[in-house]
Amino acid sequence: MKKITTAVACFSTIASISAQDKKPNVLLILADDLGYNDLGYQGSKHIKTPHLDKLAAQSVRFTDAHVTSPVCSPSRAGLMTGRYQQRFGHEGNCPRRPDGMDVNEKTMAQALKKQGYKTALFGKWHLGDEKHQYPNVRGFDEFWGLREGSRNYFFNKKSDLKKDNPKAIEHNGKAVEWSGHLTDRLTDKTIEYIDANKENPFFIFLSYTAPHGPLQSAKEDLKALGTKDNYAGLVYGMDRNIGRVIKNLEDNKLMDNTIIWFLSDNGGTVKQASNLPLGGKKGTEFEGGHRVPMLMYWKGKVPAGKDYDELVSSMDIYATSVKAAGGTLKQERPLDGKDLTPFINNEAKGIPHKALYFRKLECASLRYGDWKMIRVDKLGYGLYDLKKDIGENKNLAKEMPEKLAEMKAMLKKWEQDKMKPLWSEGVKWEKVRHKDHKIKFETGVLPGFN
Ligand code: CA
Repeated sequence: MKKITTAVACFSTIASISAQDKKPNVLLILADDLGYNDLGYQGSKHIKTPHLDKLAAQSVRFTDAHVTSPVCSPSRAGLMTGRYQQRFGHEGNCPRRPDGMDVNEKTMAQALKKQGYKTALFGKWHLGDEKHQYPNVRGFDEFWGLREGSRNYFFNKKSDLKKDNPKAIEHNGKAVEWSGHLTDRLTDKTIEYIDANKENPFFIFLSYTAPHGPLQSAKEDLKALGTKDNYAGLVYGMDRNIGRVIKNLEDNKLMDNTIIWFLSDNGGTVKQASNLPLGGKKGTEFEGGHRVPMLMYWKGKVPAGKDYDELVSSMDIYATSVKAAGGTLKQERPLDGKDLTPFINNEAKGIPHKALYFRKLECASLRYGDWKMIRVDKLGYGLYDLKKDIGENKNLAKEMPEKLAEMKAMLKKWEQDKMKPLWSEGVKWEKVRHKDHKIKFETGVLPGFN
């Protein structure tokens, strides 16, 4: 009898070791400038996104998820490092050469590589154009995409093969020729990589440029959606391509062991986009700037079709993924993100973040539970009770001086160990932001966006 027990015990130990050894693949899909409302499952009436809707039904849907900045580059710096990018001065957008993300920061790709992962970036980088900032030296084995923040969706021989053009599509440092629509090609590269690495744990950062401008949709997507709206076509095309990636994971029998993240890097900004019911837009500190749709799929490890309503951050993606890969979250430059898995499964006490902080040059804000405070230099404060006023229409700063003082003090305390920004965006954009915040503080309505 004793012998049998031992045999069973041995077998179960082996089985459990082999399950532990199978590290989950991580697929991080990032949309660019996607409006909060512009997905089927988020409430869009005219943009159809059947593949993301289906994924959402199988995932944890975060209803109060935030990126760390309302614009592209600093948002990606927070995502890639799992840290507030204000710790390393990365506040302004579009760093001009030679500026870029601090190379002493560790990226999520580097951390996963250390766990034995094959790593690839397909698409937009936007964290520096110089050689020492290049994705291949920042943790990615493979890079097929653009260094910069935006580009045309179609190949142009004249500009794309010009020497050292950071908007060109490059493969590991060399500009390449390609054809068709960029969203399709980024997806092809992702599928090829999955096919080639199905035996390895892999980390793929699929960083679409869609639906960021220029609004150049594939004709077939406009036709399929029955619209002339190129923004809607870009979202639809991205969804169609996400469907292709998921089909490939299914065909390779990898859906049981792949974590899929989906989110946008910031809110919508073009007039065709909708951030409803949120107020504000890309570039502003209102919720429409930095609150984004976010999904986490991990079969059997997190619930399918669950809404998680606490505050979470894009910084948590690094921590959650590295922990899932068997890595440690202790590092020389400490993470601000948290491992979300135990919170989602009610295995951890409390909530991941009591407060989240945002600062971009002269604008800053703070989420503290359902409260939101915004500070704009040379303008003043906005204070909103999101429980009653999700659109940030009624500024309570004058009516509630005690709440304002409490949150001002919290923001000030958070700022104590943050750096001064290393670069700015210039006077022109400062004026635009000042005007946008002023109008909404005073009237509650930002024309065209709520
Ligand atoms: Ca963006």
